[in-house]
Order: sequence, then structure tokens, then C-alpha cells
Amino acid sequence: MIDPNGIAFDIDGVVADTMSLFLDIAKQEYNITNIKYEDITDYDLSACLNMPEEIIEDIVEKIIDGKYSTKLKPIEGAAEVLKKVSEHSEKLLFITARPRIGKLKGWFFSEFMPDILPSQVEIVLTGSFEAKKDILFEMKKKWFIEDRILTCFDLYEAGITPIVYIQPWNITPHPFLKVKNWRNIEQLIEF
Ligand SMILES: [Mg+2]
Repeated sequence: MIDPNGIAFDIDGVVADTMSLFLDIAKQEYNITNIKYEDITDYDLSACLNMPEEIIEDIVEKIIDGKYSTKLKPIEGAAEVLKKVSEHSEKLLFITARPRIGKLKGWFFSEFMPDILPSQVEIVLTGSFEAKKDILFEMKKKWFIEDRILTCFDLYEAGITPIVYIQPWNITPHPFLKVKNWRNIEQLIEF
């Protein structure tokens, strides 16, 4: 069982449905309509999508900078379970490899968890996947929910227990604990 004070969370692909946003922007702004969520079988989008690399990069930039008219949706059940975690821990910790916050903070407190106080949440931007383990170590966290499998291996080597949030881009074999939704995460935590 997981101590609610010992766990931290990734954002994209774990609490935010960022890949659906990617597809929505592709459809609305680039008229790319033939790609489905299940087609995203690699975290490296250029390795799995038949899409010009410049467009992939443009869309990723738009996502990071919050320059889109469509909505970023939360992943189902995330806000409810995180609220419960916050009631049983000092602070919620999110660690993202995003290099800048863009509109993510606004989204977080106005759309994702509007009833949580900013003082109950810490969002750390690392700008790199490799830096996540250092933050987790510093903040004394033992578990991390993550959707990028290479990061999970990196965390594991650093003594942190990764939990894989199952997505079409991480179904390759791995030795880690996996969860398919936020109900699964809730069941792992000792409230
Ligand atoms: Mg992620």
C-alpha cells in the first residue's frame, strides 16, 4: 500500500488528456483527421504517426504555450482521487518535464481542480525527463505515476518505484506495476 505522503504524479497522460488535445489541434488547425488515439503507440510521436515532423513540433509547442482554442480535458477520475489524496497528505506534488508552465497552472486551478487551494499543490517543471528522479529524491517521494516508460526505468534505477499509467504508447513489456485508471490508483493508496 502506498502512503499518500509518499506519492507524486506526472501531468501529461496521467491527469491531463494531452494526447487527445494533440489530436484535436491536428484536426482543427491542420485538417488531419485520420489519426486515432490508439495510433499513438510510441511516446516519440514522429516514430508512430504518419505526420510531418514540423506539424508535430508545432502542435507540441502550441500545447506547451497554451495556444489553442479547444479544451484540455482531465483524465477521468483524476480530480476526485487527487482530492482524496490531498485530504490525507501535506501537499500534492506534480512533476512534469514541460519546460514552462504556459496555461497549465490556470487550467489546473480553474478547470481541473477548482476547489483546491494553490497552497495545497506544488507543480515542478523540470524541462527534462531525467531530472524527475532528482526532484522525487529531494522531496522524499517513493512512488511516481508516469506514462513514459523510459522515465519509469530511469526512476527505478534511482530507487523510486514507478507506476505505469497504461496508455497505447507504453504497452511494451516492462517489469513495473501498472494501473489502467484512477480507480486502480485509489485502490493502491492507504487512506
Ligand atoms: Mg506524461
